[in-house]
Amino acid sequence: MPLEAGLLEILACPACHAPLKEADAELHCTGTDCGLAYPVRDGIPVLLVDEARRPA
Ligand SMILES: [Zn+2]
Repeated sequence: MPLEAGLLEILACPACHAPLKEADAELHCTGTDCGLAYPVRDGIPVLLVDEARRPA
């Protein structure tokens, strides 16, 4: 399910405040030193650092 248009533009990574981009049903932080991947559940982004997947 795609996110609502415009939603990504107002969202930011809670850890580093970098913009997010949608990829593989997740929201990936674009911050170079961060790169956390946040899950999207039922179309709702879960922007919690505790829920984020750490980059490999
Ligand atoms: Zn980040």
